Amino acid sequence: MSKFSRQDVGGSASDDAASCPVVPIADHQRIELLDSLESLDIGWFWATDTEGRLTYLTASAAASLGVERSAIIGRKLTEVVVADRSEDDEGRERPLAFQLGARNAFVDVPVKPVDGSTGVPTWWEISGKPCFDAENEFVGYRGRARDVSHSRQHSIDASRLAKFDTLTGLANRHRMESQLRKTLKAYQASKRSCALLMLDLDRFKQVNDTLGHPAGDELLKQVAQRLVKIVGKHAEIGRLGGDEFQIILPDVDDRGRLGDLGKRLIQMISQPYSIDGSRAIIGTSVGIAIAPYDGIDAEELVSSADLALYAAKGNGRGQYRFFSSDLKDGARQRKQIEEDLRDALAKDELRLHYQPLIKAGSDEAACFEALMRWEHAEDGFISPGQFIPIAEETSIITDLGEWALMRACRDCAEWPGDIKVAVNVSAVQFSDENFLGVVERALASSGLDPQRLELEITESVFMGDPHATSRMFKQLKRLGVRLALDDFGTGYSSLGYLRNAPFDKIKIDQSFVRGATEPDNNNAAIITAIVSLADALGMDTVAEGVESEDELALVTERGATLIQGFIYSGALAQDVLLGRFEDGTIQFEKKGPAKHRSERRTVFRRVGLIHEDHRYEVMLRNLSRTGAMIEGLLDVPIGTDLVLDLGAGQLAVAKVRRSHEAVQGIEFEVPLISDGADGLCTRHRVSPYALAAAGMPLAALPPGNYPLLRDAPVSEGGSRPSFLQVDLTQRFN
Ligand code: C2E
Ligand code: MG
Ligand code: MG
Repeated sequence: MSKFSRQDVGGSASDDAASCPVVPIADHQRIELLDSLESLDIGWFWATDTEGRLTYLTASAAASLGVERSAIIGRKLTEVVVADRSEDDEGRERPLAFQLGARNAFVDVPVKPVDGSTGVPTWWEISGKPCFDAENEFVGYRGRARDVSHSRQHSIDASRLAKFDTLTGLANRHRMESQLRKTLKAYQASKRSCALLMLDLDRFKQVNDTLGHPAGDELLKQVAQRLVKIVGKHAEIGRLGGDEFQIILPDVDDRGRLGDLGKRLIQMISQPYSIDGSRAIIGTSVGIAIAPYDGIDAEELVSSADLALYAAKGNGRGQYRFFSSDLKDGARQRKQIEEDLRDALAKDELRLHYQPLIKAGSDEAACFEALMRWEHAEDGFISPGQFIPIAEETSIITDLGEWALMRACRDCAEWPGDIKVAVNVSAVQFSDENFLGVVERALASSGLDPQRLELEITESVFMGDPHATSRMFKQLKRLGVRLALDDFGTGYSSLGYLRNAPFDKIKIDQSFVRGATEPDNNNAAIITAIVSLADALGMDTVAEGVESEDELALVTERGATLIQGFIYSGALAQDVLLGRFEDGTIQFEKKGPAKHRSERRTVFRRVGLIHEDHRYEVMLRNLSRTGAMIEGLLDVPIGTDLVLDLGAGQLAVAKVRRSHEAVQGIEFEVPLISDGADGLCTRHRVSPYALAAAGMPLAALPPGNYPLLRDAPVSEGGSRPSFLQVDLTQRFN
């Protein structure tokens, strides 16, 4: 029987007060009523003294936290509960301490009890009112509290769901957008920079298609874990959907650092994944844009990073790329290529040219690699590096590949002796079930001995269905064709491939040959290792991209069995080749520089040069990471300090090292860095904010030179320019 009966209380709450007059209850009954409310868990009550120390708290409230009431009584309320500063409430509620200090009444303030020893996250809502005695003296607070843990946890889960990707636990698109918007808005006021990286996985779709969606999901999870490991806590990482990831890196504008990060991301993501006993290999491309240089608001920055990503993918994948304003034209061009490529075959615009592979130690060609050339009606020659990736994406590659195989076999059949032809086969083609039939038809219709046909494939074929891949290998070997592993060392370079796949030849990628002759470079050792491995497995080795005498000497000495590169010849048309065959052989002459020079690119570009408070216009003749040759100023003394304005806010501080009449060799104080493609760029740029301060509109940097110092205050009475400017229009137009 309850301590209270209806009689005691004097009527239920629903009874009409008029028909059932309230009978005053005694003090002891009031206490019992309170006890009853508390014991039924209908409400908890608390009271403080004038100092804010708890004088009362419902016992079950203390018990819910796993503590004795006596341990809490006497402590300050603000020590027992703290304001719940979840992100959503940020800035909305005034702190509890403030309310208490000001003796304000408050209602349903969310708080977190600090003493919770139950290990279960707990939230309370408390209300309180200041109490005064008859003399209007403050005597403390009286209030109620209730446990809202359940609904709070629910709303936290719901808001997590709205902000985070359930698969990977990374931020979702919505959260990334709002974080970027918030960050950029705040940073605009404080003139801070922020980098945005966009990542798109290469060949993810193939994993999904061959290993199934659950495997694809598992792969995405592992990618997310790697990203978190590489980028760390200072960045916000998100999955925008599908295989698209995004990273926001606040306060970074150093393109050297970002380029290194880009490289590391690509390297780490490209390491093999183990998924339910299967191996999967993917890659990634990265586009990088930096606020405020490449965009001031979120929309602009995202579109810049997207364009950079697009360019990175178009450049052959597995690359990073910084945004630059000329990429806008690149995107248009890519679209055009895609459209025109569909008609290229029908319009007879494609050619196959053949580059010799020379037997090391002789000058005689043993094989020719078929390289596709596209003569576009309006744009002229378009490089396969540009159109093959687009063809692969749009599956036009199957038609192009079939055409190349047919043509190459037909052409090779006209060559003397046992000279071979090597045809590039893209992974998409290789995994096509009709591929074997295409090879059979190419051989049958040309009558070519299968031993003279070599198929060059890259390591990316191994990421497809392993059973289908190995079946295809067997069937091709049964036909009698030879197999070469192209670009070895650039992809995943797993020795397992070499063990299991029946290759006749390994092609050492040209990136290992390049720089192999430079001191402190591991490339020579890597070449030696690949050659001895191939020797042990009975395979030939080709050194790709040999250009200079010293590179040729090195790769020959290290044991490469075949040499391919401009030192002997680029790719030649069939009619040129046929004219050169004599007595069943074909010889090539070495023609190349004695030494490989560290990359110095020849350029002809007008740039600005700033010296003291004058700005000149000079012609950039060549450019390397460490320096440049400029032309346009007469007799600039050696040792002169100056600033080269390379456009779009890129200012490079330099010193004149050589000077002869109007030509100077200058050395940069801070070396330039790669822009991810073939170009060079400065690590840092002049911020649009600095330009805005000099009177330019605040917008992401448009292309062109910035006459920053031209408008700077000129010294007292103006100074004379130190150097005589040569008229560039006469010299170069
Ligand atoms: P790859 O198969 O690695 O071909 C070698 C590339 O290196 C060719 O570029 C060749 O011109 C270039 N090369 C050769 N010697 C030197 C040298 O000494 N120095 C330098 N810097 N480069 C040298 P190309 O013709 O631009 O082809 C680029 C890539 O496009 C090829 O790389 C290949 O992956 C792809 N490709 C070309 N033709 C076809 C084709 O018919 N089918 C497929 N699927 N891909 C093709
Ligand atoms: Mg090749
Ligand atoms: Mg290659």
